[in-house]
Amino acid sequence: MQPYVLALDQGTTSSRAVVFDRAGRIRGTGQREVVQRFPQPGWVEHDPEDLWHSQLAAAREALTASGAAPDDIACIGITNQRETAIIWERATGRPVHNAIVWQCRRTAPQVEELRARGHAGLIQRRTGLVPDAYFSATKIAWLLDHIPGARDRAAAGDLAFGTVDTWLIWKLTGGRVHVTDYTNASRTMLLDLDRMVWDPELLALLGVPGSLLPEIRPSVGEFGVTGPEHLGAAIPITGVAGDQQAALFGQACFSPGMAKNTYGTGCFLLLHTGSQRVHNDAGLLATAAATESRAPAYALEGSVFIAGAAVQWLRDGLGLIQHASESEALAATVPDSGGVVVVPAFAGLGAPHWDMYARGLIAGITRGVTRAHIVRATLESIALQTLDVVEAMEAASGSRLHELRVDGGASTNNLLMQMQADILGRPVVRPQITETTALGAAYLAGLGAAVWSDATAVATGWQVDRRFEPSLPEPQRQRLIRDWQRAVQRARGWADA
Ligand code: ADP
Repeated sequence: MQPYVLALDQGTTSSRAVVFDRAGRIRGTGQREVVQRFPQPGWVEHDPEDLWHSQLAAAREALTASGAAPDDIACIGITNQRETAIIWERATGRPVHNAIVWQCRRTAPQVEELRARGHAGLIQRRTGLVPDAYFSATKIAWLLDHIPGARDRAAAGDLAFGTVDTWLIWKLTGGRVHVTDYTNASRTMLLDLDRMVWDPELLALLGVPGSLLPEIRPSVGEFGVTGPEHLGAAIPITGVAGDQQAALFGQACFSPGMAKNTYGTGCFLLLHTGSQRVHNDAGLLATAAATESRAPAYALEGSVFIAGAAVQWLRDGLGLIQHASESEALAATVPDSGGVVVVPAFAGLGAPHWDMYARGLIAGITRGVTRAHIVRATLESIALQTLDVVEAMEAASGSRLHELRVDGGASTNNLLMQMQADILGRPVVRPQITETTALGAAYLAGLGAAVWSDATAVATGWQVDRRFEPSLPEPQRQRLIRDWQRAVQRARGWADA
């Protein structure tokens, strides 16, 4: 059995690749920036060929860095930015247009129309998603409606659609395989989430012909074999998952009640709900979780729009700090936020508040307040927003979270992680390998290729860097939460007036 697993991690700002050994340790990495194009305000595109070439270059770089020979790679796992839509010609593999990126808002009017026609309920029941321009479906329809002849060619079976996983697999296998996995399919807004099949009613409603769509497979299994010209050997692709689901798996959150939170620009929180899909009214998304079994598994997903971005604002907007990491030392110069509450609702508030008219505020300022208090209150706001999402998830799922596993750029901030533990009243656990997205893809692939026998073997590779225990006395915790809720009330509806 070959000793290494190669993970490909295709993201919005870069393509990364990581070679892992059988103990789950990183042996080599590669990275290439990817170009984002902004043809109009609110529109975001990638060149699909750039995604492919940057990913291939990153993979070769990781191989070289690891010292591994191509024949030493047992299997490949793929994880990717989700929802981004690509359509190409089956005969030539040529994209018919740039990829429409998940962030792109160009199809917001189509989504408004779906809502106005009363289809939001059906979409949510069937797919687990709150209808939004993020998801692939309206992007596919836009491409078919705006590229001359595309609808006819799609109907004739000449075109193929894929999210980024599907596109990379197509390229790696020389156009032999047109597949996606449960987790990526669950972000298209076309999947029957209970049955894991493309939903005919939604295809008709959204104007997407079934002939475009890839076959759907579980996240672990056979996804084809790479052409030897790409990486120097024919390597099986045996694991695929969207980035957030890969991170959940990479955090070894395999069973119901386990959750991870990624602290980047925003926060992405996923709670595993087992074989049960959970319905909710709090605007949380139900989504497929990656699993090594054929039977589907589910997660609830909630996001915080502004998390690390609030720290960027302290740095670039207010000039209170020079580097994001300085926020920790400065906030630690004061014992508490001195009654200051920051609500970073710069772009409205997401789950569970869902108020697009909310705007940011700083409340509770008195003469003694310093920049340290404001910085501290900003860090607290990241933890408090996370608390709101966790509580909404617990209410929806009826289960209680025992600990929160963390990753992402801002999870290196020890003070923020301690605040998170204090505010949640639950331990926060940071793993040694915070590159959990790539690790998750490697775990999935390694299970598919029998590098690891089962999930238990994988979980032993997941090791704790640091555990933060809650230590704030309950009355202080309650006071923080109460003040936060009062400040959120005042932030709501601001832009509406
Ligand atoms: P993304 O993948 O969204 O670009 P990253 O995981 O790279 O995000 O994390 C970067 C974000 O984390 C930035 O918004 C930055 O302000 C924040 N950040 C990075 N380091 C720290 C830190 N030590 N303390 C607080 N925030 C931080």
